[in-house]
Amino acid sequence: MILDKNTTEIESISRALQGISKEISFEGLAKALLKASLNHSGASRGAVLLSEEGELLAKADASFPREKARFFASEPPVGDFQLSAEISEKVLTRQEIVVRQDISARSAMIDTAERSFDGHVVQLCVPLIHQERTIGVLYLESDGDQERFTSGCISVLSMLASQAAISFESAQLIEALRETNLWMIKGQQIGRMGSYRWNTRTQLTRASRECYRIFDIDRDVNPVPFDVFTSRVHADDIAGVLRALMQAVRTKSPFHHEYRVVQRDRTTVNVVAVGRFAISPTGDMEMDGIVTDVTERKAAERALLDARNELARAVRLASVGELAGSIIHEINQPLTGIITSAEACVRWLSRSPEGLAEASRSVSRVIEQVHRASDIVAGLRTLVREAQFRLTDVQINEAIEEIFVLLKRDLEQSAVALRSKLDQTLPMVKADKVQIQQVLLNLVRNAIEAMNSVDGRARILTVSSIEAGDHVCVRISDTGVGFDEDGKRRLFDALYTTKAGGLGLGLSICRKIITVHGGQLWVEDSPAHGATFAFTLPLRPNRLAAS
Ligand code: ADP
Repeated sequence: MILDKNTTEIESISRALQGISKEISFEGLAKALLKASLNHSGASRGAVLLSEEGELLAKADASFPREKARFFASEPPVGDFQLSAEISEKVLTRQEIVVRQDISARSAMIDTAERSFDGHVVQLCVPLIHQERTIGVLYLESDGDQERFTSGCISVLSMLASQAAISFESAQLIEALRETNLWMIKGQQIGRMGSYRWNTRTQLTRASRECYRIFDIDRDVNPVPFDVFTSRVHADDIAGVLRALMQAVRTKSPFHHEYRVVQRDRTTVNVVAVGRFAISPTGDMEMDGIVTDVTERKAAERALLDARNELARAVRLASVGELAGSIIHEINQPLTGIITSAEACVRWLSRSPEGLAEASRSVSRVIEQVHRASDIVAGLRTLVREAQFRLTDVQINEAIEEIFVLLKRDLEQSAVALRSKLDQTLPMVKADKVQIQQVLLNLVRNAIEAMNSVDGRARILTVSSIEAGDHVCVRISDTGVGFDEDGKRRLFDALYTTKAGGLGLGLSICRKIITVHGGQLWVEDSPAHGATFAFTLPLRPNRLAAS
């Protein structure tokens, strides 16, 4: 019988210890310790107070620093909890177990004690000690029951308190981990970036919450199979993504790729993915990386490019308009004069022969006005030429690459693949960079436009630069519609255009700019489809060529 009773008691203590050790939160820990202690001791009331860093010890005084507690639990629930200065000192500072059974003992659980009992109470107070710091207190009291806290009962309660103090460490670690994790999740949400680890053997990926958002994958898919990720990649980008990944896997080099993700509601997200390989503890090759949602940044870049293009167009239109306006104004006067004089001449001639002298004077005035008009045109020509050219040392590849940046969006929109074959050893040329870029811009835009209606073959723009004798030569080839013999003859004629909204001035202005630089611009015979334009710039021009 005695054995049975002991066995049952040991079992119940071991269950209580297990219950406490399983708890991983401060709240669960405090409640489990309180419940087990009340059960075991049969005390009327009790409370458990947990602090985090042992602040209870530092603040020990008569008014128990409950506001410093990480967690407080009491049974029954009370509004206030106050230990006497003497108990506080013993438990918190000296870390002693205190039992008080004398008449003067007052309840620490004020509301309850006042309501239920006005006699004296028996108190037990056990410090919870972790790494020499008092991190909490277990407090029990009974109404006037002097036999309540026997030495056997106290030993069991101290065991429960020690187990709680040990579990406190795991609760603290888990709390810290949870906080770090929340911090990371928040950081990833703000930065719109998710982290992932991809196992190249199992083809499975572990990914952070933000990755699930970017790729629009349900949270219960964990780990994520590779084909779930690839099913979200834009159809036009998938081949590029796979190629870049395979290349990184083959060479074990860092991975960096920009592509589009299409979510289930057809929303397109622009992402930049980066990753590095490492060997996992199981010997598998794994890639750790980050995927960043750059949709907003891309939209801002596009808006900036649009604005720049629009501005460039507006400036071009404005200067064409301004020039046209001044030409109209300047030429109009002599033209009006010519008409008036010619009409007068006709009148004088009709009164022949006496009008002949006057008619001849009118014709002289016509000639005078024609000279004036021609002078004005010559003057305007000089003005335009002198005002616009400013020669500096220009690295032609740099000028070309800036045009690629400017036209990046047009190339993407027209699905044109760019092949640049720039000779990196090219010397500088003396040129007006803005004017040369104007030429490049025109030639590349024409090439893109020529490929816009092409379907069924690749749209490829090839731009090359090379040193040829005492010149630098730039070639721009496309796989567009090309032109027939008649078109080819007229390409450089001013006002020749085959486009609905074309001006037909681009190529003639380009040729003019290149000629003034002392170079040449021509069209080459294309072997298959499309067109190739080429121009040269002298490496050492003596001066600008005459127009
Ligand atoms: P615009 O572009 O305003 O028509 P351009 O002088 O630049 O004026 O071009 C004149 C014409 O030359 C174009 O309308 C087009 O028919 C032809 N052209 C120019 N570049 C190309 C090209 N790369 N491929 C085919 N045709 C072209």
